Amino acid sequence: MLLDSDNLETIELSIVIPFYNEESNINYLFERLTSVLNRLNMKYEIICVNDGSKDNTLKYLVQHNSLNPTIKVVNLSRNFGKEAALSAGIDHTSGAAVVPIDADLQDPPELIEELISKWREGYDVVYATRRSRQGENWLKRFTAAAFYRVISKISRIQIPRNTGDFRLLDRRVVEVIKQMPERTRFMKGLFAWVGFKQIAILYDRPPRYKGTTKWNYWRLWNFAIDGIASFSLIPLKVWSYIGVLLSTAAFLYATFLIIRTLIFGIDVPGYASLMVVILFLGGMQLITLGIIGEYIGRVFEEVKRRPLYLVRDLYGFHTSSEINKKAASPIKVYQD
Ligand code: UDP
Ligand code: MG
Repeated sequence: MLLDSDNLETIELSIVIPFYNEESNINYLFERLTSVLNRLNMKYEIICVNDGSKDNTLKYLVQHNSLNPTIKVVNLSRNFGKEAALSAGIDHTSGAAVVPIDADLQDPPELIEELISKWREGYDVVYATRRSRQGENWLKRFTAAAFYRVISKISRIQIPRNTGDFRLLDRRVVEVIKQMPERTRFMKGLFAWVGFKQIAILYDRPPRYKGTTKWNYWRLWNFAIDGIASFSLIPLKVWSYIGVLLSTAAFLYATFLIIRTLIFGIDVPGYASLMVVILFLGGMQLITLGIIGEYIGRVFEEVKRRPLYLVRDLYGFHTSSEINKKAASPIKVYQD
């Protein structure tokens, strides 16, 4: 145990990788990653989070762990989604710098060297911004651009454009993020929210190595709503202004109708205009209710205070295999 805690204190760099059905990428990923990390001459650990994969991901990860003790595995009890998996990984790191990276090699491991050199210059967060997006169609590029435009307009936090979770975080920032109590983990928003000294480096994002993306448009849409609802109240507040505008218009129109009736007598009422107004206002009210519902739903999620993720097993966090088995049996609950 003494040896182990010695070990923890000296780790300089922790890599965090979420895995969800990534069996075909594992070997190549570790090959490229370890060759970069060995060049760096730093004491490192690779924290792999298995986010409820249904293929052989866990089996392969555990095999890698038994061959290479720097590879540690956190096995979650089911699929919790990338953001929760990332939180789980970050919570298990002990390095002075933490680098979350995707398992599909869309974040080139070679860039870690550049991240580290900026960190050594004194930056707390070094994020890698995509100069180009290869292997993505125009619809994905267009929707991504629209999302960044909207969120930068309505949120006071400037979320850097075209930036994923691939970045380097100083331990100071990691500790702050770990303490954030919120359940809705819109990671790129949280990373931007904390502030500190941040800098970007540019890279060309390659297409996925093997396998397919887990993000369909419905998931991306919900992800975008998560981001907007966690970082802006404008969708909630804008309705009072729209209401004031509509009431003013209605009042003016009513005055016009009264005066016209007084002067010209009763007119034949317009069925079409009535229908339009009723349907329009009904639609507006439903939209407003839906938006209020979005926020109330989120409040509900937060107050339940369920854990963000559940860990089923841990591999490689202790030196003896005895302890390994013990850590595996009771389900650990991580509250914050
Ligand atoms: N991922 C995860 N849990 C999920 C979905 C994805 O841990 O529920 C991981 C996935 O294994 C990969 C990373 O998150 O390492 C990015 O996923 P993906 O490549 O599918 O997203 P994209 O690059 O298309 O945005
Ligand atoms: Mg990917």
